[in-house]
Amino acid sequence: MSEHSRRALVTGGCGFVGSHLCEQLLDAGSAVLALDNFATSNPDNVAQLLGRPGFDLVQHDVTEPLPPLGPVDVVFHLASAASPPDYLRLPIETLRAGSLGTANALELAERNRARFVLASTSEVYGDPAVHPQPEAYWGNVNPIGPRSVYDEAKRYAEALTMAFRRERGVDSGIARIFNTYGPRMRTDDGRMVPTFIAQALADEPLTIAGTGEQTRSLCYVEDTVRGLLALAASDHPGPVNIGNPHEVSVHGLAVEIRSAIGSRSTLTYIDGAIDDPQRRCPDISLARLELGWSPTVTRADGLRRTIDWFAARSTGPAARALP
Ligand code: NAD
Repeated sequence: MSEHSRRALVTGGCGFVGSHLCEQLLDAGSAVLALDNFATSNPDNVAQLLGRPGFDLVQHDVTEPLPPLGPVDVVFHLASAASPPDYLRLPIETLRAGSLGTANALELAERNRARFVLASTSEVYGDPAVHPQPEAYWGNVNPIGPRSVYDEAKRYAEALTMAFRRERGVDSGIARIFNTYGPRMRTDDGRMVPTFIAQALADEPLTIAGTGEQTRSLCYVEDTVRGLLALAASDHPGPVNIGNPHEVSVHGLAVEIRSAIGSRSTLTYIDGAIDDPQRRCPDISLARLELGWSPTVTRADGLRRTIDWFAARSTGPAARALP
């Protein structure tokens, strides 16, 4: 975010990534308007921001015509269900957020001559046949499977963003975000880090979907947000991968979390998800070169910070002290 950016709109600003983005923007001296309909979050995520000067929150569905929001210099479009249980529960809403929501956010950016940053996803690569995934790879996506509501919504959002750039001169940047984790994720959102942490804190079995040999690359939220801000401050159109290239198997991650917590949990295996990608790892050469960005928080450090956050909020009978 450049020093000239004075007011940012963050759609989905009360979500997991959005709330951290709002916080870093405020810390950098920008005013922030968070727009959210709380489809997959609640205002608690920004409770600590509500009293801060320059922070405003509007409850609104981004797929509906936007109310007057005042001038903005940059629009970050994050509003969308993001976790598999959420988008499988909200399939049509997810497609609408990627299509109508992206159109509304782009038109707002156009009217304001604002920089537009789209939070796209590594899911546009589907179950990748190329590894690690560079931005030039076009992906391997099932267009009609259950996950397509998310994957294709984001692919459409990317296409729409590029069309607004070419046809209407919108100053856009597309970030392809890879798996991000950290404080403020919901324990019931189905993503593996909060799921394993909650299970390990309660000494319950850690449920591994599939064989556990599938890999993911996990980026700590602070690093992901720095990447989004770097893209906003540049004039690069993207798409640019924002993720951590250190790959870990799902089984390996479960073991890491269990030992970081000192839990007595066992490991148990459940059916894998349909079209679940087997390997997922970003090639971040472009982000390094064009944005001067790379992640700095190690997995051990990021997991420790995340575990501490969840442990501090464990209130049920299963809550236990960390070693
Ligand atoms: P999240 O579910 O925590 O946040 C999404 C936010 O968008 C929520 O606050 C939700 O209420 C809001 N929202 C959804 N539909 C809306 C609508 N129609 N109108 C207004 N608000 C709406 O998810 P997240 O993990 O913070 O993801 C944020 C963005 O980053 C998403 O666009 C997601 O696709 C993208 N992303 C996230 C990850 C990740 O690992 N967290 C990875 C890739 C991409």
